[in-house]
Amino acid sequence: MERKRYFHTNSVHFNGNEHTKNKSKAKPIYQTSAFVFESLVDMESYFSGEKEYLYSRYGNPNTEDLGKGVALLEEADDGIATSSGMSAILCAVLSVCRSGDHILAALDVYGGTYSLFEQELKNLGIEVTFVEPHTDWQKAVKENTRALFCESVTNPHIRVESIEDLMKFAKENQLRVIVDNTFATPYFAKPIILGADLVIHSATKYLGGHSDVTAGVIVGCEPLISRVKQLVITMGTTLSPFEAWLTCRGLKTLGLRMERQSSNAATLADYLKKQPKVEHVYYPESLSSFGNGAIVTIRLKQEVDIHAFFSSFSFVKIAPTLAGVETSISYPVGTSHRSVPIEKREALGISSQDVRISVGIEDHRDIINDFLEALKKA
Ligand code: PLP
Repeated sequence: MERKRYFHTNSVHFNGNEHTKNKSKAKPIYQTSAFVFESLVDMESYFSGEKEYLYSRYGNPNTEDLGKGVALLEEADDGIATSSGMSAILCAVLSVCRSGDHILAALDVYGGTYSLFEQELKNLGIEVTFVEPHTDWQKAVKENTRALFCESVTNPHIRVESIEDLMKFAKENQLRVIVDNTFATPYFAKPIILGADLVIHSATKYLGGHSDVTAGVIVGCEPLISRVKQLVITMGTTLSPFEAWLTCRGLKTLGLRMERQSSNAATLADYLKKQPKVEHVYYPESLSSFGNGAIVTIRLKQEVDIHAFFSSFSFVKIAPTLAGVETSISYPVGTSHRSVPIEKREALGISSQDVRISVGIEDHRDIINDFLEALKKA
């Protein structure tokens, strides 16, 4: 007969191992820091590879789902979820170079990436040369150059990087290639197929898609991705199970959202091109056969009051992020590119009249009307 337990014991053990008996339709959230074992022999079975989980920083069913899910979509061997897009970038770079090495990076990378490379990597003894768009990468190669880092679609001017050309250059110079595929998503671009060694995401953006998580993912092929996984575990940049679960839920609608958001973006871009207060519309024409993405940047004419414009929308929100299901606008010189020195911003042609639009899933007629109203008031 089982010995009766006391209240405080029952209050923490009431549900036993219920999750293993029920086969739930949706994956449960394994919001646990560790896994339990029947005996020391049972615990050894983790180290011999029979059991999958020991401690959530090493691996957890929800975080693993996210890494493997994105790897599947990107057509990579495997992947790992990280605590943010920034930690994904850091771990990806540290997996291919060390102190004394040199890397190349596109000058128009996200401002946070620029700061990470310019300040922190330099402090770690990794030298970075930033290469301006449409210039010759070869001139920047040194004897100790190990890798190149770029974004498949850049920000805020939505430049589509020619990954094929960069791959050719990287192969000739024996460089590892890391691509930030955050803006394009695997729905529109798959850099691994083109030969990239690692692809990273700020899953905070389209993979999550609902502006409710901060997360990152790194995917790649063996053996490099195993080295990346080891690095993420040791550096402790793991994602929490709940955030991984939310991002996995977002992933299920990625294709649908991208279809709708890019179609809305293309329609909005066409409308904005015809507006007299808009000097230029940045929207690509050849990202993929499935569409051209959901970010549109506009440059307002100099005489247009940018403050009035930002404050004149009815449902479009001002937000220093992108990719949610709701349309939002942001101010590159005030947020994403704030940390990029003015002379570098000028070299990239980023203006204080630029507005980045992250187009959502609303009815395109309402989105257009909100923009026309704001332009009228600005
Ligand atoms: N990469 C790109 C292209 C981004 O836009 C961002 C953030 O905006 C990041 C990486 C960093 O991601 P996170 O904020 O999730 O750390």
